[in-house]
Amino acid sequence: MLGKQLQKDVIVVGGGPAGMMLGLLLAKVGVQVIVLESHDNFDREYRGEVLQPRFVQLLDQLQLRTYIEQLPHSKLKKGAFYHYDKKKGNFDFASMIAGVPYALWIPQPILLQALYAKAKEYPTFDMLFHAPVKKLIEKDGTVTGVVVEQENKELLEIQAKITVGADGRFSTIRRLGGFELEYEYYPGDLIWFSVKRPPHWGEELQFKITEGHSYITLPKYPDLLQVGVALPRGEWKETQRQGIETFRKEIMHTNKEFYDFAESLVNFKPFVPLQAKNHMVKTWAKNGCLLIGDAAHCSSPVGAIGVSLAVTTAVVAADVIWDALQKHDVSAKVLGRVQEIRSEEIEEIHQIQKRMGKLFFTSSKFIKGIRPYILSAAFKTPLFSMIQKKLFVMKNPVAINPEFVFNK
Ligand SMILES: Cc1cc2nc3c(=O)[nH]c(=O)nc-3n(C[C@H](O)[C@H](O)[C@H](O)COP(=O)(O)OP(=O)(O)OC[C@H]3O[C@@H](n4cnc5c(N)ncnc54)[C@H](O)[C@@H]3O)c2cc1C
Repeated sequence: MLGKQLQKDVIVVGGGPAGMMLGLLLAKVGVQVIVLESHDNFDREYRGEVLQPRFVQLLDQLQLRTYIEQLPHSKLKKGAFYHYDKKKGNFDFASMIAGVPYALWIPQPILLQALYAKAKEYPTFDMLFHAPVKKLIEKDGTVTGVVVEQENKELLEIQAKITVGADGRFSTIRRLGGFELEYEYYPGDLIWFSVKRPPHWGEELQFKITEGHSYITLPKYPDLLQVGVALPRGEWKETQRQGIETFRKEIMHTNKEFYDFAESLVNFKPFVPLQAKNHMVKTWAKNGCLLIGDAAHCSSPVGAIGVSLAVTTAVVAADVIWDALQKHDVSAKVLGRVQEIRSEEIEEIHQIQKRMGKLFFTSSKFIKGIRPYILSAAFKTPLFSMIQKKLFVMKNPVAINPEFVFNK
């Protein structure tokens, strides 16, 4: 080992929403924590920018809502479902839960920067950018640290009592630690693009079904519309093979607001594909090591709740880790409490996403033909509002140790 060596209580691998929240909470209670982020900064686009009411509920519990809502943001208040240009149903965030009549739109870099700024107020917080973790250190069946490596050079070795993999859906820690998936479901891709928002649009988010595809259109902070086209698995490759012309025509005719964007297209570069995948890791903890957020439980984009779920798991993990450190017991059994507390709700949400995915990512002509009727009917019955509440609202707030609350 040629590089530097460090000693910490906890290493958090990954400076996404889950890792930053965990780092902040642990630093707040005096844990020596270091967050390692492989990128140079928080810049990222099309990543977890819609924060559902359940996220705001969690902020309320932590007393961070005022701090976060001071950041530049917009609020999504209403939604509507269209079959072509015909409105088939409406929904309103105000009817879901008292006190949070909206979802927040905050660009993820702004959110992460704010968590970082708050965490730096605590002397036990440390963070390194440009620090990709490439190896886990293990001793007698327990993970005892990590190695940061760049260009095949070992730069830094960090020893810690607990290593947390908060390194996202393609988690290196999951691979290095030999964690297995319980299930994986991948029905298709969501292809994102952005267009200028017309002044009349307001704060409505729209679901639209055409003969070809399903679309979600979200008002994006500050003055754009972010549009996602749902394609069944494999179709994105085929769409690109066919060339831009066919896709351009479809987008052009879906919504008049997309016309100028579609007309300007010369290739597929303005599109950002996201695999609409769910997965769940079988066992989230090993001795000295825990997975959280997308690394443990990745959610499909249906409902835009990935950040909310990842951050909620981080809050639960903070409590479990703090307890483990105080009891000097970092065994898989103790760290596994996080999964015991979180997995039931996440599995239920994954089931809902899977059923909805069958409608939105289908290639079946038959399902495409009947889905406007299924969705219209769902809007007219309590079913839709029930699903909405399950996805967007935290039914049972997580238990939060008062030491993690920011009024103290
Ligand atoms: C295109 C797209 C759109 C989305 N839209 C929404 C949305 O609107 N609302 C919503 O709630 N969710 C959305 N999601 C999902 C959401 O982004 C994730 O659920 C959420 O970011 C998960 O947080 P996380 O902290 O677990 O992981 P991530 O946000 O993936 O963060 C992981 C971090 O770990 C770092 N990392 C990876 N490997 C290493 C390593 N070896 N060493 C060090 N660092 C490493 C990465 O650089 C990254 O910063 C979207 C996802 C995508 C891809």
